[in-house]
Amino acid sequence: MAIKKRPFWLSRDYGRFDALNGDVETEVAIIGGGITGVSAAYHLGEEGVDSVLLEKDSIASGATGHSMGGLVPGIEQEDIWQSIEKYGEGRTRTIWEASNGAIDEMAALCANGIECDFVRGPAFDLVEDKRELGFLGREHEAARRCGIETNIMDAAQIRDRLAVCDSMAGALEYTKCAQMNPAAFVHGLAGKAKKQKGGIFEHTGARRIAHAQGGLKISTDRGSVRAKKLIIAAESYTPDLGFLKNRMTTLRINALATERLDSSSMDKLGMRGAQAWNMGRDYNFVRSTADSRVIIDGGDSLSVASGDMPQEHRIEEIHSRLLDLFPMMEEIGVEFEWSGRMAAPIKHVPVLNGLVNAITSVVDIRLTLPLVERIGVRMISMPFLGRVGKTADIFCSAGYIGHGLPLGFLGGKVLGELCTGSVSEDSAKLLRAYEPRQS
Ligand SMILES: Cc1cc2nc3c(=O)[nH]c(=O)nc-3n(C[C@H](O)[C@H](O)[C@H](O)COP(=O)(O)OP(=O)(O)OC[C@H]3O[C@@H](n4cnc5c(N)ncnc54)[C@H](O)[C@@H]3O)c2cc1C
Repeated sequence: MAIKKRPFWLSRDYGRFDALNGDVETEVAIIGGGITGVSAAYHLGEEGVDSVLLEKDSIASGATGHSMGGLVPGIEQEDIWQSIEKYGEGRTRTIWEASNGAIDEMAALCANGIECDFVRGPAFDLVEDKRELGFLGREHEAARRCGIETNIMDAAQIRDRLAVCDSMAGALEYTKCAQMNPAAFVHGLAGKAKKQKGGIFEHTGARRIAHAQGGLKISTDRGSVRAKKLIIAAESYTPDLGFLKNRMTTLRINALATERLDSSSMDKLGMRGAQAWNMGRDYNFVRSTADSRVIIDGGDSLSVASGDMPQEHRIEEIHSRLLDLFPMMEEIGVEFEWSGRMAAPIKHVPVLNGLVNAITSVVDIRLTLPLVERIGVRMISMPFLGRVGKTADIFCSAGYIGHGLPLGFLGGKVLGELCTGSVSEDSAKLLRAYEPRQS
């Protein structure tokens, strides 16, 4: 069977929205139809506020539809203990609680009509190298301090739970996670937003943003939108619109989906409703789908490449990693391959940022764990959420890396509140947790 070079989730038709045709006026314009932009439109609609969302391609065609659909609370791809060390216990706890709350809100929306195969389940942090077992204890203790439920599993326990390789030394189970089809969720949410007061337009790229007649004018090739406020939810494309150029770089990740497993193999694998990642060598995230496939991502690189097409050598790498982790999958073929891009936050170090952007515009830098460790503290920081530029009417969010589904959903809600000026206490707390000076 020929391998399909597109994201597994985007191989289904979820329906379409028209392109913009002419000039319109609204309260809030939104650029970007991923989970962040659509969540903003939905939450604004809930408050009775008019919005118009512009998406240059189609809804969920960005990082959202290229993602793994895992819903794990927290920030970045770092552990709770690392987050406490970097940002303190208070900020860590706030972000975990807020993202847990976002998953609960998403679950409620799914229970209320969004069909996206949402399922609750555990996430396992797998450890192959015995020397790293100490980290599990450290993480378990940090989780306890932050009120997060985790369980330490020894080699026998994890091998009893999942059909992982014999070399697996242990795992930490995060009990309160979930997974879904991210494209179906965002389309379902867009449908709800449109029923409220939201205009949603696909194939309508924002080309120019300007202040005009006491408001904002967003020009496209198909007409314009006049609005009092603007939300930029364009994620890794935000710098193309002239914002966050010094705060974001582009991260590219590869992924594959296997053929369907039969029911007894799926049971044997133990991955139904579960997800796992391994921190030992490179970073790989694995989960199953509702139609009994296994999907895995990894092979991260720092790159400004467009990111939609798979990088063949990296796909081979993650496939062999999948077989290393789950040897029983030897006979199962690959059916989908893809590669997605997302924004990674960097601290503003002028020379360093310029250098990184210049290098990654021509070279694809393989992001290995040792490299992340070396540059992580200096370069990787919190996601961006809040007002941008010197004006009071443009708001933006980007840079959630691997946790952008719950955090993007939450970010859209907060961006909507910033636009209406009625920021809830929880949102204000989250904004301060991301950026303490943002009070
Ligand atoms: C391979 C991969 C795996 C991932 N796995 C997970 C996971 O398991 N769990 C998790 O939580 N997160 C995961 N993520 C991260 C997550 O997908 C993102 O953080 C999240 O989807 C970001 O959502 P967003 O709406 O902010 O951005 P996007 O989904 O990228 O949406 C931005 C949209 O803006 C549009 N746009 C850009 N410029 C313009 C313009 N000028 N005019 C109009 N529209 C424009 C783009 O076309 C795009 O649709 C993964 C990401 C990748 C790439």
